[in-house]
Amino acid sequence: MFPRVIMKGTLIKKSQQKKRTSPCNYKERMFILDTQDLKYSERRPGKKPLEKGCIQLSRIKCVEIVCTDVPIPCTYKYPFQVFHDTHYLYIFAPDNDCRQRWVRALKEETKGNSLVAKYHPNFWMDGKWRCCQQAEKLATGCQVYDPVGCGSKKPLPQLPDPKMGMQDPEYQMVVALQDYTPLGDNDLPLQKDQEYILINNCNADWWAVKDDRGNTGFVPSTYVAEKFGSNFERFEWYNKNITRQDAEILLMKEGKEGAFMVRDSRQPGVYTVSVFSKAPGSNGEKNPRVKHYQIRQSETGQTAFYLAEKYLFSTIPELIHYHQHNAAGLITRLRHPVSQDGGSSQETVDTAEDHWEVDPQELILGKELGSGQFGLVLEGKWRDKKVAVKMTREDSMSEEEFKEEAKVMMKLSHCKLVQLYGVCINRAPMCLVFEFMENGCLSDYLRAKKGRLSQDTLLGMCLDVSEAMAYLESSNYIHRDLAARNCLVSKNNEVKVSDFGMTRLVLDDQYTSSHGSKFPVKWSAPEVINYSKFSSKSDVWSFGVLMWEVYSEGRLPYENRSNAEVVESLSTGLRLLKPRLAPDSVHLLMDWCWKEKPDDRPSFALLLHELASLADM
Ligand code: ADP
Repeated sequence: MFPRVIMKGTLIKKSQQKKRTSPCNYKERMFILDTQDLKYSERRPGKKPLEKGCIQLSRIKCVEIVCTDVPIPCTYKYPFQVFHDTHYLYIFAPDNDCRQRWVRALKEETKGNSLVAKYHPNFWMDGKWRCCQQAEKLATGCQVYDPVGCGSKKPLPQLPDPKMGMQDPEYQMVVALQDYTPLGDNDLPLQKDQEYILINNCNADWWAVKDDRGNTGFVPSTYVAEKFGSNFERFEWYNKNITRQDAEILLMKEGKEGAFMVRDSRQPGVYTVSVFSKAPGSNGEKNPRVKHYQIRQSETGQTAFYLAEKYLFSTIPELIHYHQHNAAGLITRLRHPVSQDGGSSQETVDTAEDHWEVDPQELILGKELGSGQFGLVLEGKWRDKKVAVKMTREDSMSEEEFKEEAKVMMKLSHCKLVQLYGVCINRAPMCLVFEFMENGCLSDYLRAKKGRLSQDTLLGMCLDVSEAMAYLESSNYIHRDLAARNCLVSKNNEVKVSDFGMTRLVLDDQYTSSHGSKFPVKWSAPEVINYSKFSSKSDVWSFGVLMWEVYSEGRLPYENRSNAEVVESLSTGLRLLKPRLAPDSVHLLMDWCWKEKPDDRPSFALLLHELASLADM
């Protein structure tokens, strides 16, 4: 009898390191679960997938999610484990729903096996189990394994006692920073921005909360923030006992553009953000200097915190997170948290310091490739590599911002991002040295190949971009100008995302202000046009437009309409029409990216997953 396929999809697997010397790596694989085996294979464009591994289901002894506190080094952030023979296979899913589906299906198929009685809920790492510290990989687990139920059997604090853990006789409220889907029976689902009553915060990782219908349960503590709380000690930007003067000394000493901290104001219960900048002030203030912004509370309707009017948040951590990505009224974006007892926590950025400068003597410039926002783009040679060199016009960007942003961009590295090799500062004009992309920009490429692109190619292009964007999303990095013109095509026709972070460097108001003539209105989400509120979800909107460009083979979106007409029609709910070449499944994804509310749009992790499953079909 032939095996019947139960599930398939793209997941990331960690190497099993069966030998001590085998490398630790993370690879994207197509997984297929059938009634006999769990198989995984490598996808190869234009060829049959190559099988890389096969585990007989009868050899599996445990399948369970992994609950962990360690950062996950690949783009998919939801791990689960398959323990078979004497090996642990760690697999990463793009979202929790997908992980639950795999774990449930695998448990169902293996429930008749000879299973472990206990398992390890956390990773085996650096020679020991992170859950119980045992140093023997095959040591018996530390938590009871449930072969049917799906979820974490985490050590829970005592049953919620409404009086315990509450310092204040009044209720302490928390606000959900993001959605949470329960992993076990004792958990409570969270809905972003909803408020909950905090019942118990004795356990550092899991807090007990109650929702407005009286249901109680546990939630991860990092998913919520105390509404009126001052318990910010877990955040690196908070300094408890520091005077205004000491804060200034510390920040001036740090001397980095955007070095900042949050401290207690003299007024009890009020907080101040202090931030260092070298940027020239509009009213002749001396620079460099430290500016102090009090975090204000508006009492209209719901309590809301803000630094700059228009940008209201229900908690202080949310407000700080937002201004870490957007200056939005502040003198500069909050770039480097500084704390009294550790200096800047961004030291890692500086370790790259000597690697990001390109020696002008090593760089040979060649013919012109095109011209862009900052000036000319030239072909070049650097250390025997063909490169693209973006020259900057003297007046097109601020030098300080340029260096800071270039350092961040250097740290971003993914096979679907056009790699920045370094910057040349000690020559005028300054220039950026990029990986060379033989086939030029995606919009031109699409137009040139019009009528000759297969469905697989079109989908593959969207998939490439979604991979890069899922990586940027997981790095908390916002692109801000995603469009086909800002993607490039390699020699092997792979599409890579370029120009990430470049808009921040542009000084031209026509480009950065949503009212400017060069602002990419037709690619921008409504909240960006109306309030300059950039986020990964505003990038998702632009990605929807990019998919439209791909399936329209390089046509301009809203071809015959002005920016003002586009804004008007978007507000009445109108959207770009389905391109002739787009299958319904792809058009549905586009429409999903163009939901009015950012939270209703999918994440890039989810888009990547959806596109990958379309590619598997
Ligand atoms: P900007 O983003 O500054 O407006 P672009 O990135 O659009 O500039 O670059 C202008 C042109 O230069 C592109 O259309 C493309 O043809 C060429 N180009 C830019 N970067 C590269 C690269 N890494 N490899 C090859 N060509 C490039």
